[in-house]
Amino acid sequence: MSDQTRFILNETDLPKFWYNIAADSPVPPTPVLHPGTLEPVTPDFLSVLFPMELILQEVSQERYIQIPEEVREIYKLYRPTPLIRARRLEKALGTPAHIYYKNEGVSPSGSHKPNTAIPQAFYNKAAGTKALTTETGAGQWGSALSMAGNFFDIAVEVYMVKVSYQQKPYRRILMETYGAQVFASPTERTDFGRSVLADDPDSPGSLGIAISEAVEVAAKSGGAKKYSLGSVLNHVLTHQSVIGEESLKQMDMAGEYPDVVIGCVGGGSNFAGIAYPFLRENLKNGQRTRLVAVEPTAAPSLTKGIYTFDYGDSAKMAPVVKMHTLGHSFVPPSIHAGGLRYHGMAPSLSAFCNAGLIEAIAVPQKATFEAAIQFAKAEGIVPAPESAHAIRAAIDEALDAKAKGEKRVILFNLSGHGNFDLAAYEKFNRGELEDYEYPAEAVEEAMSHLPKVAIPA
Ligand SMILES: *Cc1c(COP(=O)(O)O)cnc(C)c1O
Repeated sequence: MSDQTRFILNETDLPKFWYNIAADSPVPPTPVLHPGTLEPVTPDFLSVLFPMELILQEVSQERYIQIPEEVREIYKLYRPTPLIRARRLEKALGTPAHIYYKNEGVSPSGSHKPNTAIPQAFYNKAAGTKALTTETGAGQWGSALSMAGNFFDIAVEVYMVKVSYQQKPYRRILMETYGAQVFASPTERTDFGRSVLADDPDSPGSLGIAISEAVEVAAKSGGAKKYSLGSVLNHVLTHQSVIGEESLKQMDMAGEYPDVVIGCVGGGSNFAGIAYPFLRENLKNGQRTRLVAVEPTAAPSLTKGIYTFDYGDSAKMAPVVKMHTLGHSFVPPSIHAGGLRYHGMAPSLSAFCNAGLIEAIAVPQKATFEAAIQFAKAEGIVPAPESAHAIRAAIDEALDAKAKGEKRVILFNLSGHGNFDLAAYEKFNRGELEDYEYPAEAVEEAMSHLPKVAIPA
């Protein structure tokens, strides 16, 4: 075992391939349905929203997909990212566990999101797309796509969930600095936005609503604009596999192998990014790493949602997929981890959770910020509130190992830094941050609006 703290790969170790879990999945893929007909979609429908290369990746069964050199060149601005042994946190907890974290917060925009924003912008540029539309919750995805769009000279239009727009002006300014246009969603710019505002002029917005607006604008653009999604879809999860592939090499440098790998989940991309390469090792090479997805109790799709077909967005314009869902009309409470306020979950992750290949837990907001502050004081990095969910779970694992006197090797993904989230930290420091009960009634109401799909579930 190494006595090092930072495990740094060379530029030559940057992965040349993305890993596509579909090739090794022990559960059959579920169909993607047209939101109008509820029949399997055709590439024609998807091609209104996405360039063909990304549609092919979405349905690909190939295990390894080559990363274009143009994308690798930009990855080199921040990849490979460091793997850190959290020695000072271990000491503070007095645990025999070894805690490692992969720091995706070192990307220029501050999270793992550029890992997919860069290739999405690249493939759109190659297909002649003039502008990309998208939603953003906390602002991390919007920042990443704004940066990537600028690199490839494509305009970017961002529909930012209104509560985040108000809480996080600096994220908006960052996006505008990269050259993007940013709107507080629900807006008056789309039919769906206007209909939401007519019902509730004070709507805080949600990822589901913002997705609907971005999809509507792309769908009505006559082909000039395409839509870009920062999570949930197979191709997005595949792009994020660079996180886990690098981590495997870095754990090897450390001379250890994780007993447990932890990530927070909104739509599932950063968790899949770190966990799927380890799941491959479980499935094919006899490893037995526990894979733990951590969600907020305010939007607990994996732990409280049901596994069924549902729309990806609130306006029923996005494809219908089989996933753990709280109902597409459910608007999660306005927690500060805006990136985790989504009603659904990536189909592959939902299926693996259902099959018992990964575990899921939910943690409440205040305990999450307590963990974030403990981490910041020990390791110096202020984590994104989303990432803090993974930290909460990692600390709880380390304390459990301590109680049982076990040496446990814990790896978690630090999906982003929280330097733009300081208003939430101030609220916590003043004792003004609330916990939210599981919104059972709102979920029950939303469940009554699930699509009636004829395909056997
Ligand atoms: C967007 C975001 C998430 C949640 O999205 P996933 O697709 O589940 O990864 C988590 N952490 C950070 C820092 C984010 O920006």
